[in-house]
Amino acid sequence: MAAAQKVAGFIGLGNMGSLMARNMVNKGYQLVVYDVSKSVTDKFVSQGGASAASSPSQLAEMCADKRANAILSMVPEGKHMREVYLGSDGVLKGGPNKDTLLLDSSTIDIDSAQLVHKEAAKKGFSFLDCPVSGAVPAAKAATLTFMVGGDKEKYELAKEVLQPMGQKFFHCGPVGAGLTAKICNNMMLAISMIGTSETLNLGIRMGLDKNLLTEILSVSSGRSWSVDTYNPVPGVKPNVPASNDYKDGFGTALITKDLGLAQHEATKSKSATPLGSISHQIYRTMCAQGYGIKDFSVIYKILSNDKQSLDD
Ligand code: NAD
Repeated sequence: MAAAQKVAGFIGLGNMGSLMARNMVNKGYQLVVYDVSKSVTDKFVSQGGASAASSPSQLAEMCADKRANAILSMVPEGKHMREVYLGSDGVLKGGPNKDTLLLDSSTIDIDSAQLVHKEAAKKGFSFLDCPVSGAVPAAKAATLTFMVGGDKEKYELAKEVLQPMGQKFFHCGPVGAGLTAKICNNMMLAISMIGTSETLNLGIRMGLDKNLLTEILSVSSGRSWSVDTYNPVPGVKPNVPASNDYKDGFGTALITKDLGLAQHEATKSKSATPLGSISHQIYRTMCAQGYGIKDFSVIYKILSNDKQSLDD
């Protein structure tokens, strides 16, 4: 007898969500999808393996009919995620099946995740925060790292659903703990990208070859992901935004949002984060100067004051 078709709902089909959802289809899931942009939903459905819902509540109803394993979401900010689950046309209004897990992978504030968890629990649903690290290339290659917050038993079930999209899975603690790990990671990433850019700019201006300096740093104590994988200097690594006019990567506006989340949590927990705070202001200034849609490694271009390739 053929195995039962696996079904899931997927909400938010942007840069990350579309690739994650496509990997679920490729690994045998039948999806019900919704994006607030109808053209985005239609484009995804036209590629096969999915049917469209006209709202999150309708998606939840369709998922209940099909006894879906989970409803996943990948939207920009906490306000969007609250709208998706708690809005007048939200998932909880649609009454999904009680066994359907609610899994949000957006990088958002912890308060929103805990609020949705509380409201979902009142109706008997299990919600887990499942943010990801790895950006667009890892979303495409299905090698994302998932940091999950929520009930441990439900985590084991969630892991099975997340498997088609990821390679590494961590249970971090109760709801919100996945986001805690994610916010900490991104604060470190933001700081290290500025440090890497300053360092490479200094060495290059002092006359060192950019490839030689990268090679040395990559095997020395200054090594980091920003140096050896996502190098910010154009032409050093072939498939990174820096070699593509800083396009199609992790937008400066998004890392600025994540640093804002880190600063909010630092204030709440009375943690000193001087470099996180300065990084936040540096990236915020870049947004104000029009770099919000450029990849965040564009900080190297700004520091090296070579604006020619950005201005054309
Ligand atoms: P994106 O802007 O490309 O996509 C977001 C999608 O959500 C869009 O298609 C938008 O139309 C849709 N959307 C917005 N509000 C909605 C709503 N109320 N209902 C349904 N759909 C809605 O963003 P992205 O790059 O895919 O990022 C999504 C989340 O993942 C963000 O929280 C981001 O910080 C996080 N993230 C991004 C990356 C990355 O490299 N881009 C990496 C890890 C995590």
